[in-house]
Amino acid sequence: MPPRSDRAVMDAQPACSGGLKLATTLTASEQDVARMMQICNACRYCEGFCAVFPAMTRRLEFEKADVHYLANLCHNCGACLHACQYAPPHEFAVNVPQAMAKVRVQTYQDYAWPRAMGGLYRRAGLSVALALAGGLSLFLVLAVAMSGRLIHQPLAGNFYAIFPHNFLAVVFGVVFLFAVLALAIGVVRFWREVSPARLAVPEDRPLINAGRLPAAAEAVSDVATLRYLGGGHGEGCNEEDDRFTLVRRRYHQFTLYGFLLCFAATSVATLYHYLFNWHAPYPWTSLPVILGSLGGIGLLIGPAGLLLLNFRRDPQHGDSAQHGMDRGFIALLFLISATGFALLLLRDTRFMALWLAIHLGTVMALFLTMPYGKFAHGVFRSAALLKYTIEKRLPNRLASGGD
Ligand code: SF4
Ligand code: SF4
Repeated sequence: MPPRSDRAVMDAQPACSGGLKLATTLTASEQDVARMMQICNACRYCEGFCAVFPAMTRRLEFEKADVHYLANLCHNCGACLHACQYAPPHEFAVNVPQAMAKVRVQTYQDYAWPRAMGGLYRRAGLSVALALAGGLSLFLVLAVAMSGRLIHQPLAGNFYAIFPHNFLAVVFGVVFLFAVLALAIGVVRFWREVSPARLAVPEDRPLINAGRLPAAAEAVSDVATLRYLGGGHGEGCNEEDDRFTLVRRRYHQFTLYGFLLCFAATSVATLYHYLFNWHAPYPWTSLPVILGSLGGIGLLIGPAGLLLLNFRRDPQHGDSAQHGMDRGFIALLFLISATGFALLLLRDTRFMALWLAIHLGTVMALFLTMPYGKFAHGVFRSAALLKYTIEKRLPNRLASGGD
């Protein structure tokens, strides 16, 4: 679809810069997104690129909740910046991916639980992640060394001879459950605030009839396939220039499925332990080791690729203030996999305790930073996609949209 004329877009400009009724609580970043959405709503050239633009067309004004919703629908592919005739140096200075990125991190902070911890998103960085992983690993290494078991006779891969199973289960279980709880409360707060929820299905209608089940299935499918990293045309996103590429989608897939496979490996091992009384170490051909190894490969390839892309990307795409948070999370995923493989390969040697302590320190660093770092992106984005798939099944009150 060709862009609307400059005239139509310019007609929209006074409304967004002066006449737009912005809530007084909108921050400067939110106002910037609201301003750009007014321009985009008049232009609509990017309607087919992603879910942001069809969702935008259902609105005439962009209040705080709308801006938060749209910001989390955007996955920062950069396509609309490269396509935009009003991008800088044009006086409208439309840079949707950058404006959305700035608001996204703000939403994580606004809905964080406990709220006082929201500020940690600003501090989450590569050096913090590495220092935390290094510090925790060193602490565990020293603790094992003090017990005289750091370098030991081969223990046939029996981790629990170094750290008792119940100790690991309690310490890691408590931290992991806190991370899950904090993220769950945060995303529920976000869900309640986001405006389409108020348009959603009447309370008295059964779930299935209301179309929420198909909406949920579509959202799950969109998340599982990382549909919108295809750029709307299937050729992918922009990275450092105007060319489309699918590499970001591929690296995201390696990372997502690598993480899920590692999680599945841990879950299966837990079932083995408690349900069947089959205790680790498990052989190379066992399900937990196979799942963990496949997941580990994904968590080597995916994060390494994402880190490379992060360094190479056009700086206009994102918010440079968030590079540290992005890189810290990516680095932790990579390190968990690397130390996990080192542990697997050396578990029958005298160095098992050393690598176990290093690996556990790295895993604990990820768990501790999970609720206040880049991991929130996956949770909030999935919630926004579910909102979108629900909303697009509802009548469009404006009848102007591109659903
Ligand atoms: S990003 Fe630019 S080209 Fe795309 S809809 Fe907005 S104003 Fe139009
Ligand atoms: S950067 Fe990509 S995902 Fe975000 S609004 Fe633009 S086209 Fe959509």
